[in-house]
Amino acid sequence: PNSAPYIGRFAPSPTGPLHLGSLYTALASYLDARRHKGRWLLRIDDLDTPRNMPGAGDEILYCLQSFGLYWDGEVDYQSDHLEQYEQAIVQLQNQHALYPCTCSRSLLANSPLIYPGYCRTNEQSAHAPHALRVKTTDVSIDFSDALQGKISQNLASEYGDFIVKRKDGIIAYQLACVVDDQRQAINQVVRACDLLDSTPKQHYLQRLLGYPSPRYMHIPLIVDREGHKLSKQTRAEAVNPNQAGPTLFLLLTLLKQNPPLNLRLAAIDSILEWAIEHWQAERLTNTQAVSGLQHN
Ligand code: GLU
Ligand code: ZN
Repeated sequence: PNSAPYIGRFAPSPTGPLHLGSLYTALASYLDARRHKGRWLLRIDDLDTPRNMPGAGDEILYCLQSFGLYWDGEVDYQSDHLEQYEQAIVQLQNQHALYPCTCSRSLLANSPLIYPGYCRTNEQSAHAPHALRVKTTDVSIDFSDALQGKISQNLASEYGDFIVKRKDGIIAYQLACVVDDQRQAINQVVRACDLLDSTPKQHYLQRLLGYPSPRYMHIPLIVDREGHKLSKQTRAEAVNPNQAGPTLFLLLTLLKQNPPLNLRLAAIDSILEWAIEHWQAERLTNTQAVSGLQHN
């Protein structure tokens, strides 16, 4: 039914080396793109400079290559596109969709969970250091996720006005991601479920900016035996490129693809070839979390 060629992406933040959880997301988005004979782009989400780790970007590229996950075209770095984020800010400002927010961290810490719009009437007082917030409206944002089904959220009542440019001048993830997906013509986003609550905000920004929304597929997170998400913040280890085959095999198991046992010691090309041919994203439906991992 849809004729546009598939364009997907993997967009890691260079805050550290890839760990099993991020490689799992990379593999799922790679396989889904390849299964659909689509393009698979690589974007390094390097806008949040205080969180970047020197060398991590290159390490991620090296790691993906060691696992046979080759991307199409040039690597895209967000930091090369600052101009375009500013253009989107200007567009939103012209629509009167933004306002400066001078609230301090401590005021916000002592406020209700949903930002009550203290600064909504602030439009003139943009001299002090300020963030930019987007006004949310009292309408429900509805979309259908390829795995998680119908999602519906009223941003005004359930989330509140949110920041698109931080007080330190850094473009917030929600806006950057929307501008990036648009400029790269991404029409299929495969990412982990921890970003599902970002998606209504991204839909909202796409609507304001007049961008089409990609289709989204949020895959379950890998959790450890105690139910903790694997992440750089917890104890997840970096993946070992010298163990590429067995690691891919483990990831295919976690992605519920039931790889045949004889694949475990196969060459990575053969593993990936099998995986592309047999990829069935639907197998991830209704799986809450994938467990059974041990780490030291
Ligand atoms: N850079 C984001 C992250 O690593 C992912 C962005 C996305 O996939 O939308 O969490
Ligand atoms: Zn404020």
